[in-house]
Amino acid sequence: MTKLIAGNWKMHGTSADLGEVRAIAARSAELGGRVEVALCVPATLIHRAAETVPGFAIGAQDMHHKEKGAHTGDLCASMLHDAGAGLVIVGHSERREAHRESDADVRAKAEAGLATGLRVIVCVGESLAEREAGRAVATVSGQVDASLPQGDIDHGRLAVAYEPIWAIGTGRVAGTDDIEEMHAAIRQRLVAAYGQAGAGVRILYGGSVKPDNAGEIFAVPEVGGALVGGASLKAADFLPIVEAAA
Ligand code: PEP
Repeated sequence: MTKLIAGNWKMHGTSADLGEVRAIAARSAELGGRVEVALCVPATLIHRAAETVPGFAIGAQDMHHKEKGAHTGDLCASMLHDAGAGLVIVGHSERREAHRESDADVRAKAEAGLATGLRVIVCVGESLAEREAGRAVATVSGQVDASLPQGDIDHGRLAVAYEPIWAIGTGRVAGTDDIEEMHAAIRQRLVAAYGQAGAGVRILYGGSVKPDNAGEIFAVPEVGGALVGGASLKAADFLPIVEAAA
């Protein structure tokens, strides 16, 4: 399966950074269909980025699960789509922690995103305390079971990102054995949830993916790509990761 490399710009980026988007889109186009690339930029930049690089996948980093209503400051899936987003990240650990988002919230967002035609990346991952207590696989399996969208969904537009919280933005990367074990456990949960369709859902790894470790991570069985934070901000860092997946 073609790998998906999605950048997560978090709260970084203004129109001054559109040159990075341009450079990333241009090289990705040169790589043809060998790898899929997307950039999840701040909501304020979605429209301009999408206009700057037509045909390249621009995404959002969160959404509200409802279609409209009294939700000051929130954005729904159809607004993101209207702005030019083709995908959305839901359940990032920074939102689960800082905004107290539950698995049920994440599931509702994923279902609404898919229903609106977006591609959806559902994030899961254990804390350091959970890993040290030997509960990493149980924790993540539980998150997957409770966060996965249900109902009549297009599984081809769904991806799961395994992001150990202790590896995000820390420079610490999960060992390849741990990544393999966790991705196998997630695959099992996907197949339990969706049957054969669960075998085709991409599982991304995220957590301090850099040009110098991307190759070995992408060689791990069941790693279908990466969700990349810090190293996605500059084309010079992000493109070697994209190329490693091509
Ligand atoms: C992320 O934000 O999803 C992430 C994995 O960040 P980083 O690559 O900086 O660890």
